Amino acid sequence: MLPYGRQSINDDDVAAVTRALGSDWLTTGPEVDRFEESIAERTNAAHAVSATSGTAALHLAYAAAGVGPGDEVVTTPLTFVATAATAAVFGAKIVFADVDPKTGNLDPAAAEAAVTPNTKVIAGVDYAGVPVEADALRALAEKNDALFLEDAAHSIGSRRNGKPVGSLAHMTSFSFFPTKNLTTAEGGALVTDNEELATRARRFKNHGLVRDKELQRYPDEGPWHQEVHSFGINYRLPDVLCALGSSQLQRLESFVARRAEIKRIYDEALANLDGVDIPFAPEGAEPAWHLYPLRVPAERRRAIFESLREQGIGVQVNYIPAYWHPVFEDLGYKRGMCPVAEDFYRREISLPMFPGLTDADVERVIKAVRKAVATA
Ligand SMILES: *Cc1c(COP(=O)(O)O)cnc(C)c1O
Repeated sequence: MLPYGRQSINDDDVAAVTRALGSDWLTTGPEVDRFEESIAERTNAAHAVSATSGTAALHLAYAAAGVGPGDEVVTTPLTFVATAATAAVFGAKIVFADVDPKTGNLDPAAAEAAVTPNTKVIAGVDYAGVPVEADALRALAEKNDALFLEDAAHSIGSRRNGKPVGSLAHMTSFSFFPTKNLTTAEGGALVTDNEELATRARRFKNHGLVRDKELQRYPDEGPWHQEVHSFGINYRLPDVLCALGSSQLQRLESFVARRAEIKRIYDEALANLDGVDIPFAPEGAEPAWHLYPLRVPAERRRAIFESLREQGIGVQVNYIPAYWHPVFEDLGYKRGMCPVAEDFYRREISLPMFPGLTDADVERVIKAVRKAVATA
């Protein structure tokens, strides 16, 4: 089965990990600083805080924002559940706003309608790698004394109006899961220009520990002393994995270029298929295509999906509207709330998309799609 996403690991990556394994530091060492500096530089952000997953990075963002009971987070339903879950675990109320029918990204007008005086964070997702309308969402957040968080799990390497993702929002989270645009096996990062947010995120990921004597309540306790002022967790990404990330980052441009090439080949072959819509990127967006979200007629989606799987094509559906998960259903969230996102979901099939796909693989997928659409 051809997978829908897959890591690209080369000898340099293996050598980087091997070097880290032989060094004095398996974790909390210099590879962490090096990786964070590289991420900050690549995304044009002042601060980068690494974490053990994209989910952890989202959790850091909501912790840094101080999200808690009584607060509301406005977000998109067309995402992996973690975008909402990591705020819900802090006791926040999740308010889902509908998406743009062309991109599947949070619609700024819908987000505006969902904002209340309790809104603390507006969280958009760069679906498939297409950057959200960051200027509008950031302005909306600022007007309402809230923060704009960009879940960029799909979009490291993407740009909007020439600016890299990571420099568009108050906070941006990345995932380095193997299917994403670059990998550390499990891993993630939060980037921001705001030093205070970065400090709070850094503290939360390391048990809430305060080691700076000037900030401690009892600095004279002794040289061993450390204090916790607010609760935290251990989300530290080890040196071994940071070394892999730094090595991968050097090939990000070539990954993005190959993804764009595959997108072009798919587009050309599938644009004129009856009832089928190819992925759309608005003016000014330069996506690092994480997914290739094809849309087919809703009533035939399941048959087409099953035909593709039978033909050995590892397609996927991204995503079940987040509030369809029973955990939200049990809280009273109803199907039908965000009809555009639901329609998008009902028609969506993600085709294989990763740099290691050969031209022959791509042709095989195209043939299989043509057959499935014609016969299923
Ligand atoms: C993958 C993903 C996450 C979670 O990242 P992990 O590294 O798997 O924890 C969050 N949001 C979106 C949109 C994702 O695709």
